[in-house]
Amino acid sequence: MRKKIIAGNWKMNTTPDEGVDLALKIYSFLSNYNLDQNCKVILGVPFTHIDRIIQKVDSSKIAIAAQNCSQFDSGAYTGEISVKMVKNLGANYIIIGHSERRQYFSENNELLAIKLRQCYNNNINPIYCCGETLSERDSNRHFEIVKEQIIESFKDISESEMLNTIIAYEPVWAIGTGRTATPSQAQEMHNYIRLIIKDLFNQIVADEVSILYGGSVNSANASELFKCADIDGGLVGGASLKPDDFINIIKSAK
Ligand code: PEP
Repeated sequence: MRKKIIAGNWKMNTTPDEGVDLALKIYSFLSNYNLDQNCKVILGVPFTHIDRIIQKVDSSKIAIAAQNCSQFDSGAYTGEISVKMVKNLGANYIIIGHSERRQYFSENNELLAIKLRQCYNNNINPIYCCGETLSERDSNRHFEIVKEQIIESFKDISESEMLNTIIAYEPVWAIGTGRTATPSQAQEMHNYIRLIIKDLFNQIVADEVSILYGGSVNSANASELFKCADIDGGLVGGASLKPDDFINIIKSAK
């Protein structure tokens, strides 16, 4: 049975001290909360915070994700962070292909395929983001765009690698805008993504992969979204920085 996942994406927010405080607030809630066995909480934190947070929280309650990685193994790539480095700190997930990386750092599907390969080769689970821009949706190209992103990024991956992958559908027009996809818009795309995975692999793999919705998820809209058949939780940006809101979103995942 596929997992329900609530993942936070802190982006470039909080100092390490503030990040530890925030993680400890969520950890203290989870330590006294009967989270469904099938549900997982992941925090996508800046690289600089990973080590300190991992020292303070029990990984069975909170798993840690990095927000990016290098496409290279090691070497003369000043300023880059490899998957092996992230893994060595104890993080088990990496967000790959967030729309902000596609938009501001020119990451394309071809590069993302290499980053995914780095994740699989180092036994780290990617949280792969896909989603269309507003103009792509307005011109009715959203299905075509998401299909192209997935097919180009996931070429040459095995069934077991796909099973270690989380997909996040994040319509770009809904990220950080306060504008959320309606549950039916999100469900329609999630169902479509599951069909793409079925076509690339098979029904068993398609049924096992968790597909998260991202785009202005908050404590008021989370439960409606998470009730949809193909929505297996959320990738939460802004609201993941507010402990009470994030905790309420976790409570919405049943
Ligand atoms: C995100 O950063 O992945 C995101 C969905 O942000 P927000 O929830 O703020 O829209």
